[in-house]
Amino acid sequence: MGGGGGVERVGIVETQKRGKARRRVLCIAQGQQRRSLAGALAPDRPLGTRASSPGVAVCGRLHALTDDPLPTFRYYPGPLADQTIEPSQIECAACGRTRGCIVTSTAYGADVPDDARFCPWCIADGSAHRLYGVTFNEVEAGAAPEAIAEVEQRTPGFVTWQDWAWPTHCEDVGVYLGQPPGEELRANREAYDALLADIAQWDWGRDMDYVRDFIDGLGGSQVAYLFECPRCSKQLLRWDID
Ligand SMILES: [Zn+2]
Ligand SMILES: [Zn+2]
Repeated sequence: MGGGGGVERVGIVETQKRGKARRRVLCIAQGQQRRSLAGALAPDRPLGTRASSPGVAVCGRLHALTDDPLPTFRYYPGPLADQTIEPSQIECAACGRTRGCIVTSTAYGADVPDDARFCPWCIADGSAHRLYGVTFNEVEAGAAPEAIAEVEQRTPGFVTWQDWAWPTHCEDVGVYLGQPPGEELRANREAYDALLADIAQWDWGRDMDYVRDFIDGLGGSQVAYLFECPRCSKQLLRWDID
């Protein structure tokens, strides 16, 4: 756990890698749309026309259920892709409203009511945190307090196998870009090297046959999580296993 390794960047390669990561987010969003949105939409609602971008299509359908544009999360640009935000008629535990979608992240805090769910707006504007002291993430040391507060208190969490903290770099918190499968990770040299350097702490992590199977199997009982420093674009990699 905790990839500290990494290699020096080359600017143009970096740009390409970021493009890959974002395309991946859109691909997952398309999958989400197929899996959950159709069944969750009320039958009397028009589904709207197909948009050219899957991500836009998902947002557009959620917008059709809500009066307000969905908030964006600076450190988590793809919450729809992970089903962290889902269409739902569940009432938000902070504003008491049913706004058409809900955040599925685990809400931590002694004062959080059992089974409480929050709408994206009440997380983004901090009202869920102010009301219940709720947090959604942990952050490693090294980031500015305001960045830590934004991720812990006003950014939804995503599903992981184990509990671990978001990585930091340049006194900021890494932007979460998703869970690259093996093929995509191999194409992201900096992230791939960071993972190899990290697992080399263990005997199995130096057995190249095992490592190849491990990378091939990413997305199953072992998952890699890709973050990117918002200041220098360094790829920050974390992983865990079931
Ligand atoms: Zn709310
Ligand atoms: Zn950085």
